[in-house]
Amino acid sequence: MMNIPFASVEVMHKEIEEEMLAAFKRVYDNNWFIQGKEVSEFEKEFAAYCGASYCVGCGNGLDALYLILRAYGIGAGDEVIVPSNTYIATALAVSYTGAKPVFVEPCLYSFNINPSLIEAAITPNTKAIMAVHLYGQPADMDEIKELAKKYNLKVIEDSAQAHGALYKNNHTGSLGDAAGFSFYPGKNLGALGDGGAIVTNDKELADKCRALGNYGSDYKYHHIYKGNNSRLDEVQAALLRVKLRSLDVWNERRNEIAKRFINEIDNDEIVLPVTLPERTHVYHIFGIRCERRGELERYLSENGIGTNKHYPIPMHMQGAYADLNIPEGTYPIAEEISRTELSIPMYYGMTEDEVSYIIDKINSWK
Ligand SMILES: *Cc1c(COP(=O)(O)O)cnc(C)c1O
Repeated sequence: MMNIPFASVEVMHKEIEEEMLAAFKRVYDNNWFIQGKEVSEFEKEFAAYCGASYCVGCGNGLDALYLILRAYGIGAGDEVIVPSNTYIATALAVSYTGAKPVFVEPCLYSFNINPSLIEAAITPNTKAIMAVHLYGQPADMDEIKELAKKYNLKVIEDSAQAHGALYKNNHTGSLGDAAGFSFYPGKNLGALGDGGAIVTNDKELADKCRALGNYGSDYKYHHIYKGNNSRLDEVQAALLRVKLRSLDVWNERRNEIAKRFINEIDNDEIVLPVTLPERTHVYHIFGIRCERRGELERYLSENGIGTNKHYPIPMHMQGAYADLNIPEGTYPIAEEISRTELSIPMYYGMTEDEVSYIIDKINSWK
């Protein structure tokens, strides 16, 4: 029996070990750990990679989204459209500002927000749409941007799962007014700890986010906002600079694996994920759906295959959002995804034999 974890950075990190240790040594020898050269170089490199003008490092992905919303002046009394199927951080970023997340259902096959349902959720209080590129697939940005233009809304990309994905040949991070990225270790571009970034073409927004994440300070001991402490540190930035150089190679490998899953998984009980036209998927998550998910999960586990669920409880049914008083059944598609979605192993370093083994096991499951 093979043993295949749900995710692993082992091979990836083995291959770049020398460069990573050298990057760490550079920071160690430089004796400067917050807001130095590594962060500013990473910011330049990541902005260029995304095809945007500015990047501002911050503490994590949640903070990136929160700082953007706050910098746009969104707060109490405002509403922000959020997909009903996403990681809770997307909605929490809205809640932290005092604004209200308004959920809109996804498409069952792409898992991303259904643009044709957004307009009905817009009210005079709506200020922005959170366009989440869930599981690594860009959302329907043209439709979202058209609505945003019509109602004068900001479009904020939650790109925490989609580093390197393309929509009409443009990278995520350059598709809306501003984007939040996470460098949580398990993301396609992951630090060795927490990290995040704001990417935008809007200089004013970039400056404001930078100040807000640094105690509201525009220069030392001069505070123009009641800011937060949310900064990317020199060690993580130096390590991310190394990893950014290989991101496309790692995403390419994820795509090879996904292609084999899509071409070779053949079991009537399994629904495979769909990539919509004019975009590339970076498969942060390879999510299949299955009515008998619990049984499939157990069977794969018994066969040494790790799985996960994204996400087992939809946000509107979480205790954290009990205050919204949204009864079960209100978002049936999000509920169906949370009941049936199973994420199978997907990471750089998985061998062809391991991919074959997973396909084999799924195809012979009855
Ligand atoms: C990971 C993630 C976040 C939050 O990122 P952190 O760095 O963990 O704070 C936000 N949105 C989505 C969709 C995510 O997957």
